[in-house]
Amino acid sequence: MLKVIGTALLTAFVTSMFWIWFYNFVPQPRPSVARSGPVVTVKAENAPPVVVAQQVQVAPSGLALPVVGVKPEQLSDTYEDARGQGRRHDAIDIMAAEGTPVIAVADGTIEKLFNSVRGGITIYERSTDQKWIYYYAHLSAYAPGLAEGQQIHRGDPIGFVGSTGNASADGPHLHFAISRMGPADRWWQGIPINPYPLLAGRGPHR
Ligand SMILES: [Zn+2]
Repeated sequence: MLKVIGTALLTAFVTSMFWIWFYNFVPQPRPSVARSGPVVTVKAENAPPVVVAQQVQVAPSGLALPVVGVKPEQLSDTYEDARGQGRRHDAIDIMAAEGTPVIAVADGTIEKLFNSVRGGITIYERSTDQKWIYYYAHLSAYAPGLAEGQQIHRGDPIGFVGSTGNASADGPHLHFAISRMGPADRWWQGIPINPYPLLAGRGPHR
C-alpha cells in the first residue's frame, strides 16, 4: 500500500516538475518588448519581430500614426459613420493584421486599462497637458508590463491590434478616438473630435 502511494506521489511530483520546467525553459509564444537605446523591438505572438522606433510616422499634427506600418494615405475617415442605435462612430478604424504593434500617438500617462463589452481590451491615455484622452480599442493584448499611471512617450509600444469586444474576427483593426477633456473630466468623459485630419496630415493638433 505504501509503495502504491509512494509511486503515485513520485509520478505527481515528476509531472509537475516537468510542467514547471516546460513553462520556464521552453519559449512560449507571447508578446515581448525589448529596448536598446532609442530602438524598441516588438514581437507579437506568432509574428516576426518589428523594430518600432524606426517605423514611427509622425503627422504634421505632431501625432504618431498609432499602428506600426500604416501610412497616413492608407487611413479612411469613418468618424461620422453610424454604429447602430443612433450612435455615431466618433472614432476611426485602422485596419491591420492581428498582432501588429500599436504605439502611443503622443507623450502622456496611461490613465485607465479597461476591458469593455464593446471596446474589448482598451487603453485610455491622457496627454501630458491633461487636455486630451487618446483611446485605443479592440486590442489583442497590452504590451508586456503596461500599467495604469505609467508615463509613456510618443512611439512607445502599448499593445497589439486585435478584434476583442464587438469587432469582427474577420477584420482586426485599431479603433482610435480622441476626446477633448475639461479640467475635471474623468477618463470616460470628454468631447470627441475627429482624429482623421490629425493623423492623415491636415494641420496642427489643437
Ligand atoms: Zn471603430
